[in-house]
Amino acid sequence: MQPFSYERFDDPSAAVDQVSWQPHAKFIGGGTNLLDFMKLNVELPTRLIDINPLPLTKIEITGTGVRIGAMVRNSDLAWDETIRSRYPVLSQALLSGATPQVRNMATVGGNLLQRTRCSYFRDTVWECNKRRPGSGCAALQGYNRSHAILGTSEKCIATHPSDMCVALTALGAVIETQGPRDKRQIPITEFFVAYGDEPARENMLEHGELVTAVFLPDKPLFTKSHYLKVRDRASFEFALASVAAALEIKDGKIAWARLALGGIATKPWRATNAENTLAGARPERAAYVAAAEIALNGAVPQKFNAFKIELAKRVIVRALVTVADMV
Ligand code: SF4
Repeated sequence: MQPFSYERFDDPSAAVDQVSWQPHAKFIGGGTNLLDFMKLNVELPTRLIDINPLPLTKIEITGTGVRIGAMVRNSDLAWDETIRSRYPVLSQALLSGATPQVRNMATVGGNLLQRTRCSYFRDTVWECNKRRPGSGCAALQGYNRSHAILGTSEKCIATHPSDMCVALTALGAVIETQGPRDKRQIPITEFFVAYGDEPARENMLEHGELVTAVFLPDKPLFTKSHYLKVRDRASFEFALASVAAALEIKDGKIAWARLALGGIATKPWRATNAENTLAGARPERAAYVAAAEIALNGAVPQKFNAFKIELAKRVIVRALVTVADMV
């Protein structure tokens, strides 16, 4: 592990200043992801700015939605009564991730910046365009059972690991940030970038830009929402395929649908075409099957992960059946 210096800050502007002028400085919150990667020599910061004292720990109800501070712990968010009643999909996604101990430490801001579980990324002996740009991608010819089938490129096929972010994508969350020059509000569909030609770049943040909050708009259909995750074991495991789904049904037809996919794409994947197909359809299995087909259009399987196409379709259908039964 590389030596590093460490300091705590309780003011967001001071923390942003500290990181932005030092190219190898990083923020640390719960540390559940960053410390792992530091021990593996994948992340090599020379300075850590501890942001745990920052006053970003509130879950506030506003006139148009809910604002969640970036330092709210995943457990606290999952069990919050407002989140459980207005956004059950988010509570379920959080509780499906990691373990109670990890969720007690992990923060909302940190979860947004979680890095991939690609085993070739985590082991520095392998070529990896994300870890060392231009070196190649060992996963393309390697054991790629857990890798992505949507949003991939010839340079990287790693999946985005977060469950929370899949739910936030379905909910149309807005990420609030504070940078060295200004504050921004970034829709989550723009916050994450598909890896494409630049696998090392995963989101729109500039160096030193701090996530301060996540805003969730208030919409009636979110109260009828569900997160379904399929994985190799029941706990402490990442998704092979997951779906965040919400439906609003009026007069026997689907008025609105929201659908986001996890475990199969290089970023939390909003299935807008599938949502459009569902709108106006009768809430029946045939409509869900058609939506699932459309959601997986354009999927590119690798040698070991073609099974994810059929798996993801079935997870979508099952999630939609579950939500329709709630309505
Ligand atoms: Fe690296 Fe991406 Fe290839 Fe994994 S899939 S080895 S993260 S470039």
